[in-house]
Amino acid sequence: MPLLRAPLLMLARNERARVALTSMPATAQLVSRYVPGPWLEDALDAARALEADGLTVSLDHLGEDVTDPADAEEVVEAYRQLLAGLVERRLTPGAEVSLKLSALGQGLPDGQRTSLEHARTICRAARNAGTAVTLDMEDHTTTDATLQTLRELRKDFPETGVAVQAQLHRTEGDVRLLTGEGSRVRLCKGAYAAPASVAFTDPLDVSRSFVRCLKVLMAGAGYPMIATHDPRLLGVALALAARHGREPGSYELQMLYGIRETEQRRLVAAGETVRVYLPYGARWWGYLVRRLAERPASLRLLLTSLVRR
Ligand code: FAD
Repeated sequence: MPLLRAPLLMLARNERARVALTSMPATAQLVSRYVPGPWLEDALDAARALEADGLTVSLDHLGEDVTDPADAEEVVEAYRQLLAGLVERRLTPGAEVSLKLSALGQGLPDGQRTSLEHARTICRAARNAGTAVTLDMEDHTTTDATLQTLRELRKDFPETGVAVQAQLHRTEGDVRLLTGEGSRVRLCKGAYAAPASVAFTDPLDVSRSFVRCLKVLMAGAGYPMIATHDPRLLGVALALAARHGREPGSYELQMLYGIRETEQRRLVAAGETVRVYLPYGARWWGYLVRRLAERPASLRLLLTSLVRR
């Protein structure tokens, strides 16, 4: 499967593939596994149900790589409505939001300034709603820009978190700089294709890097957010938390909506804080392709239905 990962991930940015595949019933079935629905109400209902099971959530309004400044403004408005909805449904302060800077125009001319200003607006709305924002980490070419935006945002909104990708060679060093008091760092393996010049390509090396980063985060003064479904890495995370005398609540485990749901509830029953990343919206293509690249069985289902057409 690692061999298929890079070509599959290229599909995430392929408009023709998106148009061809999005109308297929098998695709719709797959999407519903990972995304509760296109509307804000779908996300809020799903958040309420997860909360009833003792889970907490980070909501993500789906969309990325905007090419039109007007689209970035629409994304800001969507987050305003999302945060208002969370307050109305009394889901804050537990629920937080996740944000992709490419959806706020990071890739546009003058995108660093534009996306920072938009992110600032959303951080302010989140603060007013009693919650916080975590910046997703995207393609490796944007890591420096995203960390620069984080630094700027944290001057006014120190509660802002960021995701880091263990697959990148640089991440252990980044994590050392990010682990200070008050920091909120989400450690994940990394869902984007990256060349061997900047990333580990063997899954075992990615896991080893994940463990090295975990050690730094668990020993540090910040709030580690461990985003993985990998049972071995979860085991290492819990063992390190115990070794560093971290009580549940001084770190959290994070998983994606629709993945290892029984395990999510088992961990809650064991006293762990578990946050579910909950994406919603109509622009699910890139998100779905990244999930397929991680999951050969789902991909097989899609290919079989293509052949049967
Ligand atoms: P894997 O080895 O991929 O999976 C371990 C096990 O989990 C699998 O054996 C399987 O049982 C199950 N599983 C994993 N993926 C799937 C799937 N798609 N469908 C069904 N079962 C599956 N990546 C980024 O690049 N940037 C981010 O900002 C980011 N944020 C994330 C936030 C959260 C809360 C999580 C959980 C992940 C995030 N990711 C992000 C994705 C992450 O980088 C990985 O691509 C993804 O989590 C799969 O890696 P894994 O650690 O779960 O291990």
